[in-house]
Amino acid sequence: MSIVHSAQARPPAIDRVLNWTAVAPLLAEYGREPVLAGLRTVLDGARQAARQGALVDYTEPAIAFHLAAHLAQHNAPRLKRVFNLTGTVLHTNLGRAPLPEEAVEALLMAARHPCALEYDLETGGRGDRDDVVEGVLCELTGAEAATVVNNNAAAVFLLLNTLAMRKQVIVSRGELVEIGGAFRVPDIMSRAGAKLVEVGTTNRTHLRDFAEAIGPRSAMLMKIHTSNYAIQGFTASVPEAELAQLAHAHELPFVVDLGSGTLTDLARFGLPREPTPQASLAAGVDLVTFSGDKLLGGPQAGILVGRRDLIQRIKKNPLKRALRVGKLTLAALEAVLRLYRDPDRLAERLTTLRLLTRSPTDIQAQAERLLPAMQQALAGWPVYVSAEPALSQIGSGSLPIDRLESASLVVRPSTRKSGVLHEIEATLRGLPVPVIGRIADGALRLDLRCLSDEAGFLDQLAGVRKP
Ligand SMILES: *Cc1c(COP(=O)(O)O)cnc(C)c1O
Repeated sequence: MSIVHSAQARPPAIDRVLNWTAVAPLLAEYGREPVLAGLRTVLDGARQAARQGALVDYTEPAIAFHLAAHLAQHNAPRLKRVFNLTGTVLHTNLGRAPLPEEAVEALLMAARHPCALEYDLETGGRGDRDDVVEGVLCELTGAEAATVVNNNAAAVFLLLNTLAMRKQVIVSRGELVEIGGAFRVPDIMSRAGAKLVEVGTTNRTHLRDFAEAIGPRSAMLMKIHTSNYAIQGFTASVPEAELAQLAHAHELPFVVDLGSGTLTDLARFGLPREPTPQASLAAGVDLVTFSGDKLLGGPQAGILVGRRDLIQRIKKNPLKRALRVGKLTLAALEAVLRLYRDPDRLAERLTTLRLLTRSPTDIQAQAERLLPAMQQALAGWPVYVSAEPALSQIGSGSLPIDRLESASLVVRPSTRKSGVLHEIEATLRGLPVPVIGRIADGALRLDLRCLSDEAGFLDQLAGVRKP
């Protein structure tokens, strides 16, 4: 509450405030209860300030102003749109894959209307929600059956809990991965009730290591795609086909956690190769799990594809009900999967792939186009801004060592005064649509690979306040 020399020194009665003309628009916008609660907070703050000796302005314009500011802040959505200029396309903390228009439309339909989620329109009887995507998943991957859960961590958990409870799962020591935060293979394994049996060494694991570990308590052989790191140098791992053969000779399933997984050969788009579930299944793998919102470019989901009998058992696990996806996810996922039927137009239609395949020349031209506006926005700071080549990464543990040529707006301090980059970074982060960049090697870098809404970005720059 501001300090002024006004005469109005005592807080007004709540009822009176609610009748003030200046408060009417707030009542119309937010409703009576929220305005009341907001008013109590504002008046409490004012009383406290007064007790500490501040002279408080209790006039109508002053209170209405503070009330409006409080309500606006309190009611601003927590989940804000941002500009992802971090250079990481599939940024987990920024929500991973942006959905293509087809998926957004499907999602809105499912949000607005009743839909045949678990309803068989031919018989009028009860259906299975997995039917929404199972057909197209089998068509694209060559699998016999498929099911979907909340995310890939859930898929791995459910698979282990269903097929390996109180039994042993044999995994190479080189593949005991941790994926950002809380997904760690040994932890998931024990929470699922399965016993991890590590074989081989960190850098080299051979077929005989697996063969020697197989025993009466073995439930399966498992391979985990080392998606967020690479082991290089003197290394050896066993090809999927050989592990499949070994597992089947002992009547055990062989399962693979692919992590990202993509349903198309990325090499045809000039991108580094990433393993596909269809290749794993063709090599004899019994079950493959992968994420919906990594390279696939869809909503958050965990997809399991493979042998019908194993998928059946997984679907019968009561935990499937706890981990299942909702109609919004299924609607978006179905729309994304359908795009994969036409690989020729995939790079135009699938947002993630469009961003990943943007040409460096195109991004560099964009950087040069935006440079004057950026220079103008930061004119008050002791910095200089340039447009420079950059290297983006794919992110979300996909293809961890590959980089994509890109371009950035780069802000460097023109004085020794440290902290200016952090000030600018925070300023951009505080804009109505926050602009998220990255400070590295003494510069603030805005990688433009993921900037589609150039006009929106320019609007934000125009709103940057001078220091
Ligand atoms: C990303 C990843 C996971 C976790 O997938 P979410 O969809 O984030 O739950 C599990 N395993 C591997 C190998 C991964 O790369």
